[in-house]
Amino acid sequence: MTKITIYNEFYHEQTEEKVREVYPQGIHGALADFLRSDENEVRCFTLETIEEITDEVLDDTDVMLWWGHLRHSAVPDEVAQRVRNAVLKGMGIIFLHSGHHSKPFRLLMGTSCDVSWREDGDMERLWNICPSHPIMRGIGRYFELEHEETYSEPFTLPEPDQVLMIGWYEGGEVFRSACTFHRENGRIFYFQPGHETFPIFYDPNVQTVIRNAVEWVKPMYRVEKLYSPHIKKIGEE
Ligand code: ZN
Repeated sequence: MTKITIYNEFYHEQTEEKVREVYPQGIHGALADFLRSDENEVRCFTLETIEEITDEVLDDTDVMLWWGHLRHSAVPDEVAQRVRNAVLKGMGIIFLHSGHHSKPFRLLMGTSCDVSWREDGDMERLWNICPSHPIMRGIGRYFELEHEETYSEPFTLPEPDQVLMIGWYEGGEVFRSACTFHRENGRIFYFQPGHETFPIFYDPNVQTVIRNAVEWVKPMYRVEKLYSPHIKKIGEE
């Protein structure tokens, strides 16, 4: 059993009919639905309840999922800092789609994390370039999403530990669509699919990648800080 905390800003679903039709329970609802079916313990927060993402909640979280887009700047700095600190202590985290511009992702990456994009509903073909990685278990050579927002390189990230998938779009653009990182004790996964107007989070391959990623970023155990600013000589403690 994994303790999962989902944050979704829950803005498009309330302001755009088209998005509400795709995600009547919100993007967090769709994510929680398939993750709950694996008998995980899932909690959801939205921008309205974001202050409730306290240190206590994060200490009691194995894996966090983050989806945000238009309301990144409304996320309080303290919450972003809390999430960053939890990752450094060992909490796993998965940033989805436009989460590349979220405050906690940028804090953890230390770069602008910019992408180029266009919204023409191109088909995306995601190539599995790291088939032996645990997150790619059950994924073939590639899978396709009938419609997705186009994200294009350059993606101004620090060099990932590993790139697991390259996304290719009908227009010819390519993108590092699945990347792993670690920061101190925590594992991080960035996954590009998930534009709000398309039913991406119902796609079985997308769900497989997210399920596998939950298992992969989940800490095997949590550590307390193992260092202090001033140490005594061994034997004199
Ligand atoms: Zn998008």
